[in-house]
Formats: sequence, structure tokens, C-alpha cells
Amino acid sequence: MVELNSELKAVVDALNNEKTICLLAPSFPVDFKFPDIILDLRRMGFTKVVELTYAAKLINYKYINIINENPEKQFICGNCPTIVKLIENQYPDLKDNILDVTSPMVVMARFVKREFGNDYKTIFVGPCFAKKTEAKENSDCVDYALTFKELIEIYDYCEEKNILKNIEENKANREFDKFYNDVTKIYPLGGGVASSMITKDILNLEQVIVCDGPKCIEKAMFDFTNNTKYRFVDILFCEGGCLGGPGIVCKDDLETKKQRLFDYKEKSRYYEPNENYGKFVHAFGLDIKRKK
Ligand code: SF4
Repeated sequence: MVELNSELKAVVDALNNEKTICLLAPSFPVDFKFPDIILDLRRMGFTKVVELTYAAKLINYKYINIINENPEKQFICGNCPTIVKLIENQYPDLKDNILDVTSPMVVMARFVKREFGNDYKTIFVGPCFAKKTEAKENSDCVDYALTFKELIEIYDYCEEKNILKNIEENKANREFDKFYNDVTKIYPLGGGVASSMITKDILNLEQVIVCDGPKCIEKAMFDFTNNTKYRFVDILFCEGGCLGGPGIVCKDDLETKKQRLFDYKEKSRYYEPNENYGKFVHAFGLDIKRKK
């Protein structure tokens, strides 16, 4: 029998009694099949399902502007909440180097609340435990943060209780609700942010430090502090980036996980974008700054 903790029970309650939006982290192909996962999420009760990649695109755009407008400054990527906390606690002198742009989860939550309405509950689903704390700190827009493991528990619970919804298996129900983007699907990889920015000729390789995993953090911070040629640190706490996150179920090696992500990226290219496909104009005026 599947037993849920109080947090997961509250999510089941929201799925059954409220309008909900699933904010699906871009590492999902490691644990779930696309596009079946979208249908399964709807069967669980999610009213809408969106990818975080649109938020990543907005973040990239803002990062590029800030870096361009401040040619003398050095910056640290603030997408990983564990890294943000670690810098605040262990490298307080570098706190102001963290880019003043909030994480993909929070950007997307703010966006969908504005787009679809504040009455929707937003439920992030990803590979990360640290997102739970970040969600609490941003409870004005993120209602819950689940790991992939927890999503499977909830699915099993709903199946056991016979409360999965009857959703027609048509094309629309297997597609994301809007704001579907391609370029940033590599965001969860170590170095994924920098590589999508470098392709835009903003930084060259010599100006970037890429670090994923606890072992490289100390050296990355040392190099960053002692050499002003470095303009940007693309840094994630988990080894292999978010593909190595503790909330992922898959135990395959990193290369296999990466391959799943690339396979999905390739497959998704053949899906017709819906009407509002990744356009910046839809986010015009959205506040994406970090909460102070
Ligand atoms: S790198 Fe790890 S801790 Fe950081 S956001 Fe990704 S899963 Fe979370």
C-alpha cells in the first residue's frame, strides 16, 4: 500500500480540488518518457503542464543583457539554490556577483500565475530537494515543489486509490500547454547555461568557468576571485548538473542520462509548436529579479 506524507497528500488534494499547473523541470526525460508523461500528469489531475525551458530562455536573455551592460564585472549563475546558499554562507564577499535574476522555477511560476491566473496552484516537479526550500521562500508564486521520485509515489497512490482521471489519449493531451522552447533544453547539464550563451557570441570559452559537483567548487571560486579574465561562472552543485540531482530515480550513468536528454531534444524538434511558442513578448514587464 502506498503511504504519502502530509506534503504529498496536500498535493493530491490540490490535484483533485483546485486548478493546478505542473512546472516540469527540463531533466524530466531522464526519468520519464516523452510525450507519455504529459498525458500521465493530466491523468493525475494537473490542469496544465508546462516546461521550464521558456523561463530558461527569459533568464538567458536577461543574463546576456546584464553581462553586456557591465563589461568590468564578473558574474555567478544563480540558477542552483544550493549554490546560492553556499555562496551566501561560505563566500559572502561574492554574494553580489550572483546575477540578480531568479531561478527557472520561480520565473516560470511568476509567469504562469500572471498568464493563467493567481487561482492556479503551481507545482514544480524536478530532480532537486533544495527546490523545496526555494519554493517556501517564494510561496507567493510556487505552491509546491516535488521531486521526480515523489511524483511517481503520487501517481502510484492515485492509481491504487483509483482516482486517476479519464483523459482522452489525443494529441493535445500529450502536448505541453504553451511556451515550449528548444534551445534551453540543455539547461540541466553542467555548462548548459554557458553554452547557450556562448553560442550567442556573448562570452568566449576563456572567460567562463564551468563547475558541476562539490569537488570543483573551491577551485572555481578561487579562480574566479583571483583572475578577472573570468566573466561568468556556470555552476551547479550536483555532479553532472541537475541530471545528477538527488530527486532523480534513474540510476544509469551520466552519459546514458545525457543521451536521454539529447534524444528528447531531437524528438521535440518535430513537434508542432503551439500558438505562443516561446515568444519574449508574452513575458513583457515580468519581474524576474531575485527576491531580496
Ligand atoms: S544542481 Fe542539484 S542542487 Fe542544484 S538545482 Fe540542480 S538538482 Fe538542485
